[in-house]
Amino acid sequence: MQNFLRENLAEVKKRIEKAAQKSGRNADEIKLIAVSKTHSTKVLRDAMAAGATIFGENKIQEAEEKIKELGKKNLEWHLIGHLQSNKARRAVKLFDVIHTLDSVELAERLERICIEENRTSLSVLAQVDLAGEQAKNGIDEKGLPNLVERLKTCERLKFDGLMIIPPFFEDIEKARPFFRRLREIRDEFLPNGELSMGMSHDFEIAIEEGATLVRVGTAIFGAREKFVHR
Ligand SMILES: *Cc1c(COP(=O)(O)O)cnc(C)c1O
Repeated sequence: MQNFLRENLAEVKKRIEKAAQKSGRNADEIKLIAVSKTHSTKVLRDAMAAGATIFGENKIQEAEEKIKELGKKNLEWHLIGHLQSNKARRAVKLFDVIHTLDSVELAERLERICIEENRTSLSVLAQVDLAGEQAKNGIDEKGLPNLVERLKTCERLKFDGLMIIPPFFEDIEKARPFFRRLREIRDEFLPNGELSMGMSHDFEIAIEEGATLVRVGTAIFGAREKFVHR
């Protein structure tokens, strides 16, 4: 059992509580996603023993191997990486929540696959790109209303909220306007929807701006490894 995981998890939870308190929120409204990408199932088992219940993964193949071994009981698996359309079926079979829905086409494909695979409900978040960063993926603000309209007509996809990866800033205060804007958009399109925002270096700011799901990797697991496929 790796003790540092217990300590890191406790420290992150303390930071979450402090940030919640500072902004007059209840820490219970904020879910911690332990971003486990690149780490081995052995490390994930230790994290589970230390109390982690939600894992965030960004690669289908890697997640598939881990989920096969660790299962889905008492665990939630969230996809936080870009989803290529040719991997949509595997994603539907694997994940509880997909944070990276970024086009109408992908929504339609996921809905169709859910029907084919007899999956009655799949939670999705729309990833929004507010910085016009082509490489980051995410739908731009202009395209969002159309996606939201389409999602409202989906029977299997459950539109549960919005997600953002702002540009990286040394000065984390510079991320705040992105988090704030995402909340405003959420209030407009999906009051009470989830807000997936904030990573190791900026999740306190995200919480102050309303995050309900924070995605924390290195602050829990330390530096990323190179995942070794079996
Ligand atoms: C890797 C990753 C994280 C976690 O990043 P850390 O800085 O290690 O906390 C969060 N969100 C996404 C989308 C990621 O790809």
